Amino acid sequence: MEQVVKKNDIVEITIEDIGANGEGIGKYQGYTLFVKDTTVGDRAKVKVMKANKNYGFARLMELVEPSAYRVEPRCPIAAQCGGCQLQHMDYAKQLEYKENKVKNCLTRIGGFLEFNMEPIVGMEEPFYYRNKSQFPVGKRKDGGVAIGFYAGRTHSIIDTDHCYIGAKVNVDILKFMRNFIEKYHIEPYDEGNHRGLLRHILTRVGYRTGEVMVCLIINGNDIPHRDKLIEGLKKIPGMKSICLNINREKTNVILGDTIVPLWGETYITDYIGDIAYRISPLSFFQVNPIQTKKLYDIALEYADLHGDEVVWDLYCGIGTISLFLAQKAKMVYGVEIIPQAIEDAKTNARINGINNAKFFVGAAEDVLPQKYKEENIYADVIVVDPPRKGCEQSLLETIIAMRPKKVVYVSCDPATLARDLKFLCEKDYEMVKVRAVDQFSHSVHVETVALLTRLL
Ligand code: SAH
Repeated sequence: MEQVVKKNDIVEITIEDIGANGEGIGKYQGYTLFVKDTTVGDRAKVKVMKANKNYGFARLMELVEPSAYRVEPRCPIAAQCGGCQLQHMDYAKQLEYKENKVKNCLTRIGGFLEFNMEPIVGMEEPFYYRNKSQFPVGKRKDGGVAIGFYAGRTHSIIDTDHCYIGAKVNVDILKFMRNFIEKYHIEPYDEGNHRGLLRHILTRVGYRTGEVMVCLIINGNDIPHRDKLIEGLKKIPGMKSICLNINREKTNVILGDTIVPLWGETYITDYIGDIAYRISPLSFFQVNPIQTKKLYDIALEYADLHGDEVVWDLYCGIGTISLFLAQKAKMVYGVEIIPQAIEDAKTNARINGINNAKFFVGAAEDVLPQKYKEENIYADVIVVDPPRKGCEQSLLETIIAMRPKKVVYVSCDPATLARDLKFLCEKDYEMVKVRAVDQFSHSVHVETVALLTRLL
């Protein structure tokens, strides 16, 4: 059968959906085309660049009729930068798109036809929300220093001092750093030949506490003129921690293992709800604490704890959800695969005076089945918050065998969420309600919380 389009054809289509990377999706005579830089509702002339059997990729040539949902991105480099995919889309429409994405996955992959989907929880201020930023440092073609972000899917740096989703204080930090690097001839790192010193500038900010951290990732053991560096950075309001991170490897992993304190503490503190968390350069911490609080409030509401429950929190990270739940439960057990995260979880429990949370290092799919078999552990509620690949089937089987009254599933990928819920609901569970939360405006990501209860 002959294909509807071939390479270099120019066709006119209407964009009806958005793909996983934010690209517009439209159909020409039933044939699907993916088109970057377009959004739902655009009518556009596009040129076919690659035509596979069932779908192809095309380039935007002309916007015949722009979508009513198009807005001018606030950030001038939004189109090139790999950070934001949806800034050209009205925020209300972004939320609708994310909610539909969850709904569609639950229907198509999960096989759920009717379910109680509560309205998506959006952000009040969809700009300047990230509490952590990592700016690569390199050389411009003209020899000057480049600090900014990687262009989408590449390692070429777009030079900028202003990220519209990062903390506002970053603008002052980057301005100072650019001057410092130029004045004292600090050599930017070159990925190509593994030479040069300064690789990345990492900043972390406590939104509630106002505390600021700057950590310079270097391919060396020290930075020249460190007195001048400290003198300048500590003038920035809120500065609490200035440190170096040593990374001498030829790798694109950003951070190395060693932290060298230069001034102040090696951590900052921030809160989610009433719980304080200590955050070091290497700690994992949710990047949008305001929305995280809303996400955890929903998880807590769904868990509906009264004070006498035993809760297991699987994939617990630094214990963020565990400690939140511990305020309302008899006992919380957390399981996490990264040992350092469990150390942080224990510290966080201690500094908050929480005694009813216990943490275990290991893969959830190993720890839970083993403890169930050997110690016959029990749970009233099991919370899971897995990475994008979702839960192993063996873990889901153990959950079913343990027969908790409730399962609260927190997910960062609606496709694997739908797959796992299907598995649980084919056995003894029923999906009661589900709610999406936007933690990352202008990106295609969406978080979801689902409540399952045991049928018998
Ligand atoms: N609940 C935490 C972290 C969720 S992110 C929070 O809200 O902050 C998912 C976590 O799962 C990460 O910390 C990751 O290290 C951990 N992880 C990944 N695979 C795992 C596995 N097989 N078993 C246990 N934890 C795992």
